[in-house]
Amino acid sequence: MKIEITIDESLCKACAYCIEACPKKNLEFSSNINKSGYHPVRVIDKSKCTGCGMCYQVCPEIAITVENES
Ligand code: SF4
Ligand code: SF4
Repeated sequence: MKIEITIDESLCKACAYCIEACPKKNLEFSSNINKSGYHPVRVIDKSKCTGCGMCYQVCPEIAITVENES
């Protein structure tokens, strides 16, 4: 099973909903600053992502895509 998580940094408003929602505590703010002046969220370790989609479900900006290919 291949899981691919993508975060569109330009859409992230740094609300942290996804960080709070991730059961693996696998998301954090990056040190980058996006064009809106926010530190966008990044995945800490892609290999630890289960593909549960919780982060995708809570993101109000639809910045996160989770693909779960089995
Ligand atoms: S898909 Fe699940 S495990 Fe992966 S980053 Fe999102 S909330 Fe965390
Ligand atoms: S929920 Fe979406 S907008 Fe909020 S911090 Fe996470 S990726 Fe950024």
